[in-house]
Amino acid sequence: MTGVTTIAYLLSGVLFIRSLGGLSKQETAARGNLYGMLGMALAVGVAGITWFLSTESAVGPGLGLLVGSVVVGSAIGSVLARRVEMTGMPELVAILHSFVGLAAVLVGISSYLAPRAAHEVQGAAHIVAMVEIWVGVAVGALTFTGSIVAWAKLRGTLSGKPLLLPGRHLLNAGIALGIVLLAVPFVSASGPAAGLTWLLVMTVLAGLLGIHLVMAIGGADMPVVVSLLNSYSGWAAAAAGFVLANDLLIVTGALVGASGAILSIIMCRAMNRSILNVVFGGFGTGDVKSSSAPATGEVREISADETAARLSMAKNVIIVPGYGMAVARAQNAVEDLTRSLREKGVNVRFAIHPVAGRLPGHMNVLLAEAGVPYDIVQEMEHINHDFATTDVVLVIGANDIVNPGALDDASSPIYGMPVLEVWKSKLVVVLKRGMAAGYAGVDNPLFLLDNTRMLFGDARKSIESLLGAVNAKKAA
Ligand code: NDP
Repeated sequence: MTGVTTIAYLLSGVLFIRSLGGLSKQETAARGNLYGMLGMALAVGVAGITWFLSTESAVGPGLGLLVGSVVVGSAIGSVLARRVEMTGMPELVAILHSFVGLAAVLVGISSYLAPRAAHEVQGAAHIVAMVEIWVGVAVGALTFTGSIVAWAKLRGTLSGKPLLLPGRHLLNAGIALGIVLLAVPFVSASGPAAGLTWLLVMTVLAGLLGIHLVMAIGGADMPVVVSLLNSYSGWAAAAAGFVLANDLLIVTGALVGASGAILSIIMCRAMNRSILNVVFGGFGTGDVKSSSAPATGEVREISADETAARLSMAKNVIIVPGYGMAVARAQNAVEDLTRSLREKGVNVRFAIHPVAGRLPGHMNVLLAEAGVPYDIVQEMEHINHDFATTDVVLVIGANDIVNPGALDDASSPIYGMPVLEVWKSKLVVVLKRGMAAGYAGVDNPLFLLDNTRMLFGDARKSIESLLGAVNAKKAA
């Protein structure tokens, strides 16, 4: 069976790598998902069969417990995944990361206490086994509590404002040092009872560190935190793989850990933040207003009819979707409008900011689901220079990602984040319900500029009115 298991695990590993490769492009993302599902089904199936064949007590309560947990867990998971709205995805992802962390903690503690446990091995092998358990539990506990705090911040149960305790860096360093030093009495403990006390004390410390690290991170940096916790959950799974001596879990954990870390770095670059600056927190406050003088100017409204007339006469139109498009579920109406304008010969493109919406790739997923052609959906760095030659920009439920204050107001919590420079175009029409701030909680001077017009209302209703007016002009 060992040979078959190894080959099956190798195949799963290859499927996971192909899955990550597929997910890097919209065109191949669905196939990437399929590879991932196949790889996971194979891995779980083979791990279950191997366990069944190798464990004397497999038939009986052990088997019942295993099958029962898989069935109940899968049922809860599929019901939750079916029910979740696209806008609730980041919370779901954060809570799933917390499960991985908790699993690593439980695997570490139970391996330590299991019959023929690692603490009964002697010499260097003993030290290695103990350190594996220690690292797995530490990373797992930090991921578990950090993800719970991220989940609570994303759903608004906790404020997005960073908790800035005095001497917080010292506190973090002290806890981290404590985690490292406590490993010494743990490794040299004479028996499981003494060792378990140290392990539990460290679990509490690592849990506190997870809470404190994420509490100190402000709302505007939450996208990076979610992807960073994704990376931590991968490393926690890899550590659990070492404890369980399961090669596939090590490989899979390392893949998740490394890809999460790379995504975090890419997002940090996109937001002009250094990764250390995000990890150690205090940036991107959630509720504060900019402390500089309030922007002056007047709010000018525009009707759907007038916007439709400007769109119909335009040569170049850029649509900037944001979180509000997801809330309004306006993507299908947006696709209809895009098709209608393109049929009239208008060059319509989409500009995607890397942190638009509430999770990486949020807008790409919605537009792909609605059938918007991939080649007109462009990333910020490719399209940002084109606003100056654009006739009309439609900003649909976006706010922070088009805020000029991010470029010139040093007191703004989003200062330094590159934004879509929509104000350079001839006309900007902003579709939102009122003058409310976006996720970072800051005012947006764009709404008061001379070339900006506000089309107030729910984004889907506004787009449907625009579509009706554009089609009426086409027919006339
Ligand atoms: P914002 O949150 O900045 O703005 C969304 C705007 O949509 C609001 O101002 C709101 O205004 C409007 N809106 C809400 N509902 C509707 C509706 N039904 N119809 C029309 N408008 C609506 O979103 P952006 O996409 O511009 O920016 C994303 C923000 O989220 C950034 O700050 C980013 O850092 C953060 N973030 C991103 C994550 C990611 O991974 N992408 C994860 C976590 C946070 P009004 O209420 O007046 O209608």
